[in-house]
Amino acid sequence: MRPLIAGNWKMHGTGPQLPEIAAIAARVRVTAPTADILICPPSTLITRAVQAAAGQIAIGGQNCASEVSGAFTGDVSAEMLKEAGAAWVIVGHSERRQHHGETDAMVGAKAKAVWRAGLLAIICIGETDAQRRAGNALTVCADQIAGSVPDGITAVGNAIGYEPLWAIGTGHTPSLEEIGHMHSHIRQCLVARWGSQGREVRILYGGSVNPTNARAVLAVPEVGGALVGGASLKATDFEAIINKIPAHV
Ligand code: PEP
Repeated sequence: MRPLIAGNWKMHGTGPQLPEIAAIAARVRVTAPTADILICPPSTLITRAVQAAAGQIAIGGQNCASEVSGAFTGDVSAEMLKEAGAAWVIVGHSERRQHHGETDAMVGAKAKAVWRAGLLAIICIGETDAQRRAGNALTVCADQIAGSVPDGITAVGNAIGYEPLWAIGTGHTPSLEEIGHMHSHIRQCLVARWGSQGREVRILYGGSVNPTNARAVLAVPEVGGALVGGASLKATDFEAIINKIPAHV
């Protein structure tokens, strides 16, 4: 399975940051990594980011509405992101679940909207620190898969992003053993529901991935790539992560 290295710029970036995307694209053209490379900038930058990417890397959105259009002030549909040039959309990021009250059902509806528009989805799941300390991390993630991952996930290319909330933007990551344990658990959940097709879904690890830990994290069995926040904002850091993709992934 081809790994996916995805950058989530969150609410960072205006025009002056576009050269970072151009620099990543130029590097990818030279090194031709054996992975899909994606940057998800703010939606205001998508069209210009596609130009900067020059066909070398994919550009995606960070969220979408579940409806196609309508009286939903401030929302952007998957169809609109597609028209702007997005190939992917992240849905269910923990910051949307936490700060915008997105439930599993809402995330599932958004994932379906992504597929309705003909785009690929990264559906995010992950436990809080309190849930992990209480010994509930596996159950929480299984419940999130059951509630927010619809049947279309097995179409070629889609991904689950496992992002423990306590690892996002903190510099703390689970141990490699913990990452491996959770990723095999997620794989088991996917296979239990979708049989052998569940093996085709990429499971990304996200949470403080950086150039120093990327090689070890990407080598963990069942880690099919990374979802990278802070370290995707600078081309040099993101390229360094791309360079750590192990041959066997
Ligand atoms: C993220 O927000 O998806 C993320 C993984 O952030 P960071 O890499 O900064 O922890």
